[in-house]
Amino acid sequence: MLNIALFGPPGAGKGTQSEFLIKTYNLFYISTGDLLRKEMAGKTKLGLEAQSIIAAGGLVSDEIIVQIIEKTITDNPGSDGFLFDGFPRTYIQAYILEGLMLKLHTSLNCLISLSVSEEESVRRLMNRGITSGRSDDNEVVIRNRLKEYNQKTLPVLQFYRDRGIYVEVDGTASIDQVHDRITEIIRNELSKSLFNVVLFGYPGSGRGSQGKALARKFGLEYVATGSMLEQEIKQATETGKRITALYENGQLVPDEIVVQLIEKKLADSKDVKGFIFKGFPRTLVQSYILDGLLKKHGSAISKIIEIEVPTLELIRRLDERSQTAGCMPYDTSTAKIVKRLHEHETKTVPVIEKYNQRHGVIKIDGLGSFDEVFARISAAIEDGLKNMR
Ligand code: AMP
Repeated sequence: MLNIALFGPPGAGKGTQSEFLIKTYNLFYISTGDLLRKEMAGKTKLGLEAQSIIAAGGLVSDEIIVQIIEKTITDNPGSDGFLFDGFPRTYIQAYILEGLMLKLHTSLNCLISLSVSEEESVRRLMNRGITSGRSDDNEVVIRNRLKEYNQKTLPVLQFYRDRGIYVEVDGTASIDQVHDRITEIIRNELSKSLFNVVLFGYPGSGRGSQGKALARKFGLEYVATGSMLEQEIKQATETGKRITALYENGQLVPDEIVVQLIEKKLADSKDVKGFIFKGFPRTLVQSYILDGLLKKHGSAISKIIEIEVPTLELIRRLDERSQTAGCMPYDTSTAKIVKRLHEHETKTVPVIEKYNQRHGVIKIDGLGSFDEVFARISAAIEDGLKNMR
């Protein structure tokens, strides 16, 4: 998620810049000023309460602001983040925003402050007043709005300076220049966020070899739960011993073990650009687990890819592999191969379908040489990275 707050005195250009930000980054726009004007137009209780304060250029109470924001956020999911305009306007509202972000399991990426002098602000608002129809765009009220801004709103900046997420932009530059500077800041923010790929495919589709090569090419950490379990067994760790005992009793490895291994992997991976998951999630339960694990890191799934290979070709490949040194313990008999294909079909295909409805799954033709398939998947990932940056 990308969450941005646009800050600046009245007339700094927050509304103008918001228009392109919302469209480019699919953000949900929250302008407390617009929301209040809507309440006033609808003559609601909140609107009536706010009316005289707005008309005089004062700040509406924090209680009213909480109510209108809560109402809006809970009613509107489905965006890639939030853009706040005209909020937070008081030190208290900065804490309110922290709470809201926490509730949504996310956080504010940065506060972009558009700086313009008081005189420039007055000049712009007087000009806007000619066409805006806003009764608060007249000189007496404007002066009062700026007084409120200096007294109550400016201290908010320190809150974000202390958190290291404050960026200042010269608001007197041209609209295009301000736009370019904001774009640069957001690109920088996005480059900090993780790019996470989930790679699906039937056993034998080439997920493993493609996944490893893709991880190398894109600087992603390869997370393959099957290999992680094997590693534990090989190293005879406590978890490894538990897994061996489970295998010997013919039992499945419980999700709790897999979760611990992935949690550790995510926590240990510093300075990576993202993760590529292979062999996880395998079940609907695990798909919820993955969402939760990524959310804990302030992240989410970026791209879901499925490598498609016809069943007969899968069997041919798995059978061929069973006769080579690279043979996996679960590829040694036809019965085992059939069981794995069946497991995928009954447990994992519904997960892919769920993702397809929610995010869209990119289907890649898995036939052809390794390089051909690799080029196809790479193109899909590059496409995703481009949209992110
Ligand atoms: P704006 O459209 O952001 O310039 O807001 C217009 C008026 O609405 C302001 O002068 C305030 O009276 C009120 N207002 C908007 N946002 C807030 C806020 N976050 N806190 C208090 N008052 C606000």
